[in-house]
Amino acid sequence: LLSKRLQAVYQMVDNNTRVADIGSDHAYLPVELIEQKVSSYAIAGEVAVGPMSRSKEDVDKFGLSDKIDVRLGDGLAVIKASDKIDTVTIAGMGGILIQNILAHATTEQLQNVSTLVLQPNIGEPLVRHWLADNDFEIVDEDIVEEDHHVYEIIKAKKVTTKVTLTEPEFLMGPVLMQKKTPTFVSKWEHKLNGYQKATKNMLNAKKIDQEKIAEMNQNIKYIEEILR
Ligand code: SAM
Repeated sequence: LLSKRLQAVYQMVDNNTRVADIGSDHAYLPVELIEQKVSSYAIAGEVAVGPMSRSKEDVDKFGLSDKIDVRLGDGLAVIKASDKIDTVTIAGMGGILIQNILAHATTEQLQNVSTLVLQPNIGEPLVRHWLADNDFEIVDEDIVEEDHHVYEIIKAKKVTTKVTLTEPEFLMGPVLMQKKTPTFVSKWEHKLNGYQKATKNMLNAKKIDQEKIAEMNQNIKYIEEILR
């Protein structure tokens, strides 16, 4: 059984896909995708030897080794063009790391990839910037709370047109802004409160960082507009 967070990632994967789950650790996601027949083939990519060999044992034990390849490697380096991977999932890491992994992917590794499902633990705007800069359009997003942490899941498809997002969309997510679920509203009410307190404290303190205050005021404006 997947955690609520991984279940939300799982839900975003299309049927009949060939998936590479990068930073797969325990390989729970590829195992579920194969067992439920959502995907016909999966690669569990992992940079650390320990998790990789444990996953390999599990995949063998469940008799899934004909459909799941557990591979040791950095980021998308585990993907070969002949694998015909069409979907890449990257979950449970910071936005900077996800952006780095994607930025280091070669054209060959991304050749057949039409869908990305990404779940940054923090730094979501960085991920949305990489997507827009690389012609991936955000087609769906989800937001879930688990163990007092709020997670966002971003699904994007490769397009031939130019992708443009507004600043509030980079910050809060174009689809999440439309859906405005209770989890979304509560996340941004909490952030708004934090920014308001922080700007007040900075103004009261002797050392005033104008740039930081301007950035927070901008975010306050965006959030207030969306929550209104
Ligand atoms: N994806 C799983 C999930 O969401 O539950 C596991 C997340 S775990 C916190 C992050 C995993 O990513 C770790 O096992 C780590 O070794 C792996 N990782 C970090 N950088 C990586 C990279 N450049 N390439 C492949 N795996 C990486």
